[in-house]
Amino acid sequence: MKGARSRLPGRGAPARRRIPCDAVRGLLVEYLGHELGGERAVMVREHLRGCPECAAEAARLERTLALLREAPAPSAPSALSPSSRRRLHRAVAHPLLDWVFVHHRIVAWTVALGALAAVLAVAWRCRLRPETVIYWLR
Ligand SMILES: [Zn+2]
Repeated sequence: MKGARSRLPGRGAPARRRIPCDAVRGLLVEYLGHELGGERAVMVREHLRGCPECAAEAARLERTLALLREAPAPSAPSALSPSSRRRLHRAVAHPLLDWVFVHHRIVAWTVALGALAAVLAVAWRCRLRPETVIYWLR
């Protein structure tokens, strides 16, 4: 049923709100998770009322999401060392900070070079010559 027919608008939906089945199916996860608000939620709801194929797809997806909610949360293997567990937790909870932690040398060099470039830019802008700076430092 995913051929040209699935691209047809929902049959029962009012003409002004008809949206293609593909568009509705792309919004189903958000709709079922109550993350779709306003006009789009209304459009999906009306489409589902008038389109049995999309309504069946929504029902299947809802069952799948319910099974996923009931599934136990994955946990790290107990064979991992405490530091590996902390590292794994940090990578999942704060991926950007973890990236910075892992690549701290790249980050440090980038910050240092950026600071040097800023100092040189200010010096260039102020037309500072090395002997002037040495005079100020005395
Ligand atoms: Zn449909």
